[in-house]
Amino acid sequence: MRDSAAGVLLGLACGDALGRPVEFQQTASIQRRHGRVTEMLANGAHGQPAGTITDDTKMALCIAQSLVESGSFDPDDVAGRFVEWYQSGPFDIGILTSTILRRLRNGDAWDEAGIDEWKHLPEGSNAGNGSVMRCAPYGIAFAGEPDALVTASRVSSAITHADPRCQWGCVILNATLAGLLAGEKQPLTSALELAADAPAELRTACEAVLSIMEGSESATDLELANSGYVVTTLQAGLYHGLTAESVEDAIVEAVMLGGDTDTIAAVAGAVAGARFGASELPDRWLRAIDETAEIRELGQQLDTMEISFPESIVEKLSSGQFDLQA
Ligand SMILES: [Mg+2]
Repeated sequence: MRDSAAGVLLGLACGDALGRPVEFQQTASIQRRHGRVTEMLANGAHGQPAGTITDDTKMALCIAQSLVESGSFDPDDVAGRFVEWYQSGPFDIGILTSTILRRLRNGDAWDEAGIDEWKHLPEGSNAGNGSVMRCAPYGIAFAGEPDALVTASRVSSAITHADPRCQWGCVILNATLAGLLAGEKQPLTSALELAADAPAELRTACEAVLSIMEGSESATDLELANSGYVVTTLQAGLYHGLTAESVEDAIVEAVMLGGDTDTIAAVAGAVAGARFGASELPDRWLRAIDETAEIRELGQQLDTMEISFPESIVEKLSSGQFDLQA
């Protein structure tokens, strides 16, 4: 179990770092310049050294550190860590995340800014993958506690990504991770049961992956997209994470999809990392990432520590004081 829990976060980091240099390029262009990307590359998008992690992992680490250091789910503390990271001037940050974190820095409340901003966004720019990319620590911390897993995933998403597709996308990913950590053979089935209230579009995209795994659909019928839309990112990440023959293949295939490579590969890496364990991740990748030891330690702590879920959050939601709008 410890190896799988560390595998979630290290898989996420490996996907993020492998995808970073080729972010925004389409598959043909990646192939022309690099062939199949199996090594950590330097330079490229954002001009960083080989093995550099981006916002996907950095924000997941904010969440993991908050859970471990406070011993509970504390969205106020999570939001505070996001703001601290924002103020460090990251080279990679999503547009909506940046807008919300600026508002939080200027004094807006974590349970208001995200929902308020989302209400004013047009369809097409309101459901990005900026929360699903970072949510995996809750899948480890609340594995075996479905109510806490659902609520923490949704509330934490809503800090910056309040759209129901984003909230429930985090639930489906985290429930899948929790199922894998518990040794389930078909974790997506139980994840979709837990996410019965998820928007139809999101459920349909995940059910398509399940149909392929169950053999009722052919993989060639699935057209994966590489944009920053949460529905297609989760679909592509689940598909590669759950069906690849190795954790390395899952991550490389996700990167070779092009587009939002770091985030799609981060999702695929978290899933495949849970399936195969940290010990199956290529040593050459882990050595290239400066934060590997810290990330491994956090994965193990999330797995072994008792992390509480405060009743006050449940009350805040049930009283309508905090309305998730979905
Ligand atoms: Mg990124």
